[in-house]
Amino acid sequence: MPLELVTLPCLADNYAYLLHNAVTGQTALVDAPEDFPIQRALEERGWRLDLILLTHHHWDHIDGVEPLRAAYGAKVIGAAADAHRLPKLDLAVKEGDVIEVLGEPAHVIDVSGHTVGHIAFYMPDAGLVFTADSLMALGCGRLFEGTPAQMWQSLLKLRALPPETVVCSGHEYSAGNARFALTIEPGNAALRARAEEIAAQRGRGEATVPSRLSEEIATNPFLRADLPEVKAAVGLQGAEDAAVFAHIRARKDKF
Ligand code: ZN
Ligand code: FE
Repeated sequence: MPLELVTLPCLADNYAYLLHNAVTGQTALVDAPEDFPIQRALEERGWRLDLILLTHHHWDHIDGVEPLRAAYGAKVIGAAADAHRLPKLDLAVKEGDVIEVLGEPAHVIDVSGHTVGHIAFYMPDAGLVFTADSLMALGCGRLFEGTPAQMWQSLLKLRALPPETVVCSGHEYSAGNARFALTIEPGNAALRARAEEIAAQRGRGEATVPSRLSEEIATNPFLRADLPEVKAAVGLQGAEDAAVFAHIRARKDKF
């Protein structure tokens, strides 16, 4: 039986994700922006919380951990590199580790850039990757701690996953991301169609995440910095891939 995925809006524009195994009755949470909407979602479904996976140390991804741990006794998993600035971890993980989440393997991928120590969890059997503030729908996280080259390498790791992988990212930024992406590639037909779909989804009050990796590859300018047409579009023909990524990221910071 496949795992059930619930996308949970939290705070102003964050997303947390619940993952539930109906056979074992176990539930995992990816990121804990705040406790109330998560507790309510669990109660509505009659689920307990067994596991909390943390992607990075920012408050809007961890503030709900302690009340949820207290309420459910959930085990907390996060990056060993960030153990000093995360809530107390029951399991500290690093790139290359494969942990068990609800009976399925989850691969830990270092996706430093937004922060140094940011990790993603890739679950190949479920076809899911939890990317939080690394790869986002039509975007990527701002570089608070890492270098552009670091984030570019992180995005390349994510881009190499199977294209049908579902990307569970951390914020509802898609409408603004779409407006920015269109300034880079106004002629990208797939991007134009996606921007229209995002506007329609937001008009209906719907989440635009999760998204599919194949659509990110076709439309997300931050995943496309090595393409000749994108380099040409930003006037950087022949430049290094990471330099083009850095240029696009810097333009987004000022957008
Ligand atoms: Zn963050
Ligand atoms: Fe965030």
